[in-house]
This record gives sequence, structure tokens and C-alpha cells, in this order.
Amino acid sequence: MKTIYTNLMLTVSLLLFSCSDKLNTDNPLMIEFDTPLQSVPFNKINTSHYKPAFEALLRSAGEELQHLTGSGEKATFSNTIEALEYLNYPIQRLSSVFFNINSAATSKEIQQIAQEISPMLTEYYNDITLNDLLFKRVKEVYDHRNNLQLNREQQRLLEDTYKSFVRNGANLTEQDKDEFRKVTGLLSKLSLQFEEHLLDETNSYQLHILNEKDLSGLPEYVTEAARMEAKAKNLEGWLFTLKAPSYQAFMKFADNRNLRKDIFMAYSSRCFHSDDKDNQEVIRQIVNLRLRMANLLGYKSYADYVLEERMAETPETVNDFLHNLLEYSKPSALKEYQEVQEYASRNGAEFKLQKWDWAYYSEKLKNEKFSFTDEMIKPYFRLENVEKSIFDLANKLYGIKFTEDQSIPVYHPEVKVYRVFDDDGSFLALLYIDYFPRESKQGGAWMTNYLEQYIMKGDDVRPHISLVLNFTKPTETMPSLLTYDEVRTFLHEFGHSLHSIFSKCTYMSQSGTNVYRDFVELPSQIMENWAEQKEWLNEVAIHYETGEQMPAVLLENILKSRNFNSGYAFIRQLGFGLNDMAWHTITDTVNKSVSEFEMTAMEPAEIFPVVPGTSFSTGFHHIFGGGYAAGYYGYKWAEVLDADAFSLFLEKGIFDKETALSFRENILSKGSTEKPMALYKRFRGHEPTVEPLIERSGLR
Ligand SMILES: [Zn+2]
Repeated sequence: MKTIYTNLMLTVSLLLFSCSDKLNTDNPLMIEFDTPLQSVPFNKINTSHYKPAFEALLRSAGEELQHLTGSGEKATFSNTIEALEYLNYPIQRLSSVFFNINSAATSKEIQQIAQEISPMLTEYYNDITLNDLLFKRVKEVYDHRNNLQLNREQQRLLEDTYKSFVRNGANLTEQDKDEFRKVTGLLSKLSLQFEEHLLDETNSYQLHILNEKDLSGLPEYVTEAARMEAKAKNLEGWLFTLKAPSYQAFMKFADNRNLRKDIFMAYSSRCFHSDDKDNQEVIRQIVNLRLRMANLLGYKSYADYVLEERMAETPETVNDFLHNLLEYSKPSALKEYQEVQEYASRNGAEFKLQKWDWAYYSEKLKNEKFSFTDEMIKPYFRLENVEKSIFDLANKLYGIKFTEDQSIPVYHPEVKVYRVFDDDGSFLALLYIDYFPRESKQGGAWMTNYLEQYIMKGDDVRPHISLVLNFTKPTETMPSLLTYDEVRTFLHEFGHSLHSIFSKCTYMSQSGTNVYRDFVELPSQIMENWAEQKEWLNEVAIHYETGEQMPAVLLENILKSRNFNSGYAFIRQLGFGLNDMAWHTITDTVNKSVSEFEMTAMEPAEIFPVVPGTSFSTGFHHIFGGGYAAGYYGYKWAEVLDADAFSLFLEKGIFDKETALSFRENILSKGSTEKPMALYKRFRGHEPTVEPLIERSGLR
């Protein structure tokens, strides 16, 4: 995952404040950082420092903004476009520190400050994009862009700045602007409503089991969690819920078919009961308003509006992409279905498999085919050795080195900091790694920056990167041991870090991982490919007690099991993508029933009979609550890219320095200084093709 904290990617000084500010020397966020490499002085910051620092920064940025718009000087690239870019650097830096702490080491007080600061930031950014005087100056520079002799990065900054105003309605007539504001205001309310309904419906269901027989098939860790869940609510027995870990485990392991159907029906009919939590009308309103918004801005559909700022560019490209992958994967999915059906029939199932049977019988068949468990694998992946192997891999490919530096202040004693050096010994980046779960830390894994790379007046300011993970903590007798999936997660987040480590861009808003959303996962996902290479795995997978390599059969089974039922996994994702595209390529308002609409949209990717009384869309939070509208395809898009890019390594050698250098030069160092397709083609020699992914997924 790549976390992006603000939606406006305008972007510096190493100091948060310039020297002319009235210095408040009690607040370490309001004076020059006197730390090594001017890293964040975590040892001196306490919670009460954040809000005054934000207030002071926003005040001074607001004053500067007024100065900028009120200036009688002729608007130029430097006094308008660059000035606007630099205006936000200090706020950007403080935000990245604060919001990262809110995710990795939060507290009630920090959450409270976040609640107070978020609207202040939104207001500040709105003051910029809705500022008519400012837009006039931006437009003046933009209209003369062909006579300004700008270099490529400058041209792109100018275009991006201009476009961010226009896409937020700056070019509309006053009347249309009013409507635009009304529509976007309504849309944010409706998305919140969608999410609230979904959360309520997810939380209100519980499957309460009192008869131990009904637990048949469930592993102990699952029943134990269910017992705790019941205990927390002062109930006897076991409680299962619609939250992912509970729901998925029940569907995978529970022998009781009727109960599997019950919980499946509850999950798949969330917000589809024609009551006050129903999302059908919410969905119709959202897609119709999104269409209206796109039309106001001059686009045919909402997907046209979104995709203009993506690598895929047009709805046609995305739809062709999805259908093309469907052609490859559907035959495999049907074959897999057949195989699971046969397995089920062999094992006493006298019925045609339904959706609530799929995970259950698939899991059993998988165990029969590849007999291994996480517990068998973990002793081979000791955290220290995995870290060393990943650093070694980066060294083999790029020649870079990692040296731990304990003099850099950290926000928690478990955080480690490394200085990263280039092949020639020059300093590249600071890398903070925070490995273990805590009460104060969100789940999952992510990469962010405390400082992003940029070049100002010839001075290349190197990035400070944060990698946050949630691996099992070592105990007195046991080191931290990872599952195979965790090894991949580490590689993935490390890949995002490389995008920042190698960044060499002039402007922060274009540097590192500030790229289109359907491109940002290429550097991360490509790293996961090494986890499928025996040559590299043999270096990593060493038993922590015996020092022996992982047995070849076990390694083989891990790798083979990756593609188990991959055809079905493909068509499921493609079905979600088709659903998303159908809702966002409408060119007339939709009034028909949600289930009818989605059935038509998802039919090409369906192999199970439709279950009456269920709806996928009413629970599709990615596109109606989250930010993935007209973007769900991006998951598969990034896989196509990483498989296609990695195929060059497979061709030239997985440790080939020349290929790595080209990946660094053409992709990792360039941020979004150019369009991603141009960057990609320079690395790969051609546009990405789907074949390497099809090959890798065993769909041929
Ligand atoms: Zn990611």
C-alpha cells in the first residue's frame, strides 16, 4: 500500500519555518531541526506541539498566498507556478510527520488533533483551488506556455497546476460553479452515508453459535477468536461476524453448509433490504451526480474525467483491458470450477456448488494438492535474515548499501533507522523501519515519507522514508518469524521505498511516489517477483535453528500453490472492475434497479448462478465510499505492468545490473516528471502486454 495523505499534490524548505518567522523556541516544530540530516526531532516533540505549529504554518501560508495573488507584478512561471509549489512544502512536511504518527503511534489526543486539523487543511487547500485571482494568474502563465522556454519538468508542473484548478471547476461560469460546489458537496455526503450504512449493516449481524457441533471444521485459532468475541459481549458460546477475518474463516472452514449459506446471505445482502440502511437509492444518486459533475466540466462520463489523469487514459482502454483478460482467464476459471465440483462430489457433496461452497471445497482441495501450513514455513523466514536478504538484493541490483544509524531520533524505541548510500558512496536517503504491532498502530503495512525528495537552487534534498509493518514480535525464546506472504509484503513496501530512494526530480509534487494511481504499484509489485525465484528464495529461507535450507519439495509446493484457482481469482476481480466501469461510463441518468444494472454489467465474469436477494454494488465500498471510482481495474493493471517489466529481468537474468540500472533511470528516479507510458516504454522497449501475467498466473 502507498498512503497518500492529502489529495492536493502541490508541494519546501528543510525547515518548516523560514528565518523571518517569529520563533517560538519552546516548540521544536517551529525552529530549525538541529538533528543529524535535519531529521524529525521525535525525541523533542510532544503532542501539544502539533496544533500550534499547524496554525502558525497555515497562517503564514495564507499571508503568502495573499501576497502572491495581490501582487501587481506580471504573472510569471517563477512568481506564480513555482511560488505556489513551494508555498505548500512546509505544510506538506508537517502533515506527513503528524499523519504518520497518527497511523503508527496514535493516542486519543492525537486523534482529537487530527479531527481539528483536517478541516483546517481542507479549507486551506480549497482557498487555493477556488481562488479566482490566483487562477487568473495561473491561466495567464498557462496561456503563454509556448513562449516561456520551459524545460520538461517545468512544463509538466505548469500543466499539472493549471489542470488541478480546471478539474476543480475554476474555468466554469459563476452559475455552473455554484452547481459544481453543490454537486461535490452532495457527493461527499452521499459517500459518507454509503459508508455509514455499510458499517452499520456489517456490525449489526452476528452468528451466535451455542452448539459445539456447529463449529465442526473450524481450526482452533478461529473458534478461540469467536469465543473471545462472544465473551466481550457477555455471551455464552461463539460469535461470528461479517468482519473479514471472522467471515472469511467461517466460509473457508465450517462444515455446516446451512450456516455457511446464512452468513453468506447476510454478507451479500448488506444494505439491500429496502429499509433505512438501504444503499440502492444512494448509489443511483452518486452515479447520477458524478455524471452531472463530469458533464459540467465537459466530459462525456465520470470515467472519462477520472481516467484523463491515469495511465490508462480512456474508458475504452480500460474496458478492452478487462475483456481481454477475461478471455484468457474464464476458461481456466470454468476448469477450476469443474475440478472443485468433482472433488466435492467425490467427498460426499450431492449438490451443484453454490457461492457459499466455493471457499470451503477449494481450501480442502488445496490442502490435498499442496500439503503445507504457515507453521511449517515460518521457521525458515527469520526477520533479521529476510531484512538482510532484501538489502542484499537491492545491493546486487543497484549497488546500494544500508547502514544503521542509532543517532537519528525515533518516535518509538522499536523503530530502526538506516542511512542508504549509493554505489559511489554518496548519501541517498534515510529509511525508518517500524516492524511490530502495537495498540497505538493501525494494522497492515505502508510506506510514507517524512520528507520527500526535491532539488532547490542546485541542492538535492534527499528523502526521509518511513516503512511501517506489523510482523510478529520476537519473544525471549523465539525470534520474529515471517510467513511467506509477509516476506512478499516486506518486498512490496520496500519497492515503494526504492521509488523514493532513487528519486531525482526538481519538484516535490512530481518526485518519488507522487505518480498516477495505476502506476504507483509497479515499483512495489515488481519486487514481489523475486519471492517467486528459487535462486533468491534459497538465500532467504534458512531454518533459524538448524541453519538448513528449506527442503526443495516444500519450496516447490509454496510456489506451485500461488496459482491455485488463479483463474477464478482473476474473473472475480475482473467482475468488480466491470461493475465499476459500468456505473461510471453511463451517459444518461440511471433509474433502473441496482440488481438489474449490475447483473448485466458483471454477467461476462460470472460462473455461479445469481443468488436472488443479494447485491454486490450495495456493499462495494471501494467505488462508492472510497476513492476507487473508475479505478478498480488498477489492481489488475498494475499486475500486468509488474509481470511485463519483470519479464525483462527473466530474460536478462534476475540479478542483471544493466536491467536494474535502466529500471532505476527510467522509472524509479523519474517520479511523474513525464507521462508513465513514456517512461515505461523507455525501460521495456514497448508498451506492456498481458502475456507475462497470463504466463505467470498459469492461465495457459
Ligand atoms: Zn503498494
